[in-house]
Amino acid sequence: MYETNFLGAQLRAASLGAEDRPFLISSETGANVSYGQFFAEAERMAAMLQRLGVVPGDRIAVQAPKTKEMLELYVGSVLAGAVFLPLNTAYTPQEVAYFLDDATPKVLICDPKSLAAMTEIASSAGVAHILTLDEDGSGTLSDAKSKYAPGFQAVGRGPDDLAAILYTSGTTGRSKGAMLTHRALASNSQALCQYWQFTSDDVLIHALPIFHTHGLFVATNVTLFAGGACIFMPGFNAEAILNAMPKATALMGVPTFYTRLLQHAELKDASRQMRLFVSGSAPLLAETHDRWREVTGHAILERYGMTETNMNTSNPYDGDRRAGTVGFPLPGVELKICDPETGDEVPQGDIGILEVRGENVFAGYWNMPEKTAEELRPNGFFITGDMGRVDKDGYVHIVGRAKDLIITGGFNVYPKEVELVIDNLPGVNESAVIGIPHPDFGEAVVAVVVPNAGAALDADQVKQALADQLAKFKQPKHVVILPELPRNTMGKVQKVLLRQDFAGLFAT
Ligand code: AMP
Repeated sequence: MYETNFLGAQLRAASLGAEDRPFLISSETGANVSYGQFFAEAERMAAMLQRLGVVPGDRIAVQAPKTKEMLELYVGSVLAGAVFLPLNTAYTPQEVAYFLDDATPKVLICDPKSLAAMTEIASSAGVAHILTLDEDGSGTLSDAKSKYAPGFQAVGRGPDDLAAILYTSGTTGRSKGAMLTHRALASNSQALCQYWQFTSDDVLIHALPIFHTHGLFVATNVTLFAGGACIFMPGFNAEAILNAMPKATALMGVPTFYTRLLQHAELKDASRQMRLFVSGSAPLLAETHDRWREVTGHAILERYGMTETNMNTSNPYDGDRRAGTVGFPLPGVELKICDPETGDEVPQGDIGILEVRGENVFAGYWNMPEKTAEELRPNGFFITGDMGRVDKDGYVHIVGRAKDLIITGGFNVYPKEVELVIDNLPGVNESAVIGIPHPDFGEAVVAVVVPNAGAALDADQVKQALADQLAKFKQPKHVVILPELPRNTMGKVQKVLLRQDFAGLFAT
């Protein structure tokens, strides 16, 4: 029934005939949704969307709580030939208005609490239908779905057709809609499933949001491709994750999951028979990697990817998972390190911009041909905007975003290099190094440092301790001590906010 739908057929392949096998296990009630039940509901969603007039290529925007109904809607959209467009639940109605105007979806699904505000912006963006989805799964989406029977004949879609648009987090300038094809999603899920050795015996703890590539495509698609199960959680909750571990085999998380879990004494026992811990979406501190291994005996497997490319690199499943690295290019992904100015490959071991090519890479930015042309080369390489290097053993190291590179007095300073030295100082928990406009140097290096709980840190002490460890131009001109770093929902440090906060530090 799904054969002609490129991604749909692959999402279903592993579970066909295993209808009673559990797919989603509620972390709250323990209730199971079997594969047969899940796909039946997704088919009803697809039938409902078609009845609303959705035709292939139409966008289905959703800003709603993480529920099994949202996953049904995702798969239902794929089966109906539509383009799934999930939005971060933190966006305000004004922000959502931009996405609706840009993507002109035919249908919007929103939280009933924001229905009034959404109705207004949706009508001015020409959205034809607006439905609601609440955190308990109730709402007009489920009411509408219930009128349709399962047994939907999937709409034919080829590998180059769009399956989803995900907007980048857009820390500078306008957020861009990354167009993801059936092939890009399917090929990456296939690669990850094999590389990380997922099978139908796996039970993944799913605590990530599903409006982002990590929770939606990495966690959900890999489970579907393996025919395994997920313990499905509405969000991160350390106790719930620790309770789930003895019944699970794998966890996918952002680094903050791991630092928070490490604060719980139960971790050692709870994690005993887990098979795999994966981290990504932001850099995992080497210290977290080491402490996790000490406590649990497991080496966290760090991988690197982005909205536009799905996953690019991963530490090995069998073999050395090296702290502070993101491993090797995944099968089917080509990676080179290039000079930001010339685009030429730099000598082995040097730092440059990472460029990647492969089936995993997106098809361009929605409605932004100029931006697409700036970042996606005609030969298919995507300029990631991440700076990094490949070491002599082939491991990729990320040193930060190109836009975070600091140029002070004509010298390049890679924030990560300074952060690593600061993080090693006694009493330091973590740090963020930023460039702030400076009348003499153009930019000056500023370090924002977070002390360990209970440690008393003094800015001058930090400066002094760095004096003999770093070249003069890399040493922070100013050190700020803060209780924590600003982070977004994916655990990424928001350096833009720090740069804004300290913009006037050296103003004359
Ligand atoms: P997003 O599009 O929200 O998934 O963000 C992608 C960006 O997150 C990448 O371009 C990197 O800058 C960063 N990122 C993802 N994974 C890692 C990692 N393992 N280490 C360092 N940075 C990462």
